[in-house]
Amino acid sequence: MNNPATPLLKLDGVETYYGPLRALSDVSLTVAEGTVKVILGSNGAGKSTLLGTIMGVLDGQPQRGTITFRGQRIDGMATEKIVRAGISYVPEGRRVFPELTVSENLRVGAYTVRDRQSTRRTLERVHDYFPILADRQTQPAGTLSGGEQQMLAIGRALMNEPELLLLDEPSLGLAPLLVRQVFDIISQIRDEGVTVLLVEQNARMGLKVADDGVVLEGGELVVSGTAAELVDNDEVEELYMGAASTTPEPSAESDTSERGAQRGARNDVDLES
Ligand code: ATP
Repeated sequence: MNNPATPLLKLDGVETYYGPLRALSDVSLTVAEGTVKVILGSNGAGKSTLLGTIMGVLDGQPQRGTITFRGQRIDGMATEKIVRAGISYVPEGRRVFPELTVSENLRVGAYTVRDRQSTRRTLERVHDYFPILADRQTQPAGTLSGGEQQMLAIGRALMNEPELLLLDEPSLGLAPLLVRQVFDIISQIRDEGVTVLLVEQNARMGLKVADDGVVLEGGELVVSGTAAELVDNDEVEELYMGAASTTPEPSAESDTSERGAQRGARNDVDLES
């Protein structure tokens, strides 16, 4: 951990609207440099909206509040400038360019980096994280498996050499062995100095890798604390880990099916019900 006292990212009183619908209300949080922060919450809580707001992909949002990265205001900034400032984003659903090869997808990810040597070093690092991407360099990305596409999407985001990586539900729909692999890599990425803000419905896995976290409910932050505090929090336990705590940890040997992956990766509890 570099310096946990320095907030790399700071949100203060952020409010985001979709037309008349207020999707985020007065959200304030900080992400300390060199840490992994997890955003927990059920479907529709506003998790993806939060990441989209930080990246400036939602037109005219946030309507209120400020977002500061390394002390510089980034709210209202164009997404490309935010990327150049050092934030990479892997949206939900592993979006890769299906017609481009694995290697071309990774090169596209490096578009903000001018230094070729540095790009080569980063590519080696990405190949170390995900050896399968080195093996499949010439394969069109659209023909990769779901898990491989997720690795490519994360690898492509890393090619931009970000200081902060935003990951939206990286475990969704992955087989259990891959879920574990992706989380191992998230913790390796953090250990190598990249700060991570992670949206995750799989609270167990998310809290295992995270240093701290928050719970979003109906667009508002309702709980925040260290990962240990969240694990011990009764509300978090009941809403997000209740089912999982009675389900044995998925093992690669016993259950590698997509259904098994969904069971291990999702723990949907509707807060409204
Ligand atoms: P999930 O885990 O299901 O992805 P989430 O916590 O990421 O959920 P968001 O996708 O951020 O939740 O959605 C927050 C709220 O904003 C929801 O009520 C959703 O219906 C609404 N919303 C999201 N995108 C739009 C949009 N483009 N237009 C209108 N409303 C939207």
